[in-house]
Amino acid sequence: MLNATYEPIGVVSGRRALILVLSEKVDVLAESGDVIASERMRLVIPSVVRLRYFVRVPYQRTAPLNRKAIFARDQGRCQYCTSPAESIDHVIPRSRGGEHVWPNVVACCRRCNTLKANRLLSDCSMVLRSKPSAPTRLAWVTVAAGRVPESWGPYLSQAAA
Ligand SMILES: [Zn+2]
Repeated sequence: MLNATYEPIGVVSGRRALILVLSEKVDVLAESGDVIASERMRLVIPSVVRLRYFVRVPYQRTAPLNRKAIFARDQGRCQYCTSPAESIDHVIPRSRGGEHVWPNVVACCRRCNTLKANRLLSDCSMVLRSKPSAPTRLAWVTVAAGRVPESWGPYLSQAAA
């Protein structure tokens, strides 16, 4: 869901979006292709809706630092070997003073996590595939949606620019 200014402000279910359309609070910018049909009517579930009025968003949404958000940033892949990730690794282990912050956490498979254990990267032969960093300003959208439909792309890149 976009604000009147086209700024993404939330992820809502298709059903909720449809209710907003029917109550004339939003305009449909893109359709999902999914249809709700009854004997009397046929409704296409929207994919992108824009509010007809501006709402003040009291704070900048950011992705929370949790397992779901870390997996979303790292595309569910172990940052050491690219296998499907199953856990979170602190690059500098917490027992060595490593903090629970974006640049120090990566998605990790169980095998690599066990292999790395309590060691620093300089003490083992493991290499990170990319330098972990805080997610982009709109990363919360991916976290909230799970999977971002293609039709959202243009609106997200426009907002991120
Ligand atoms: Zn791995």
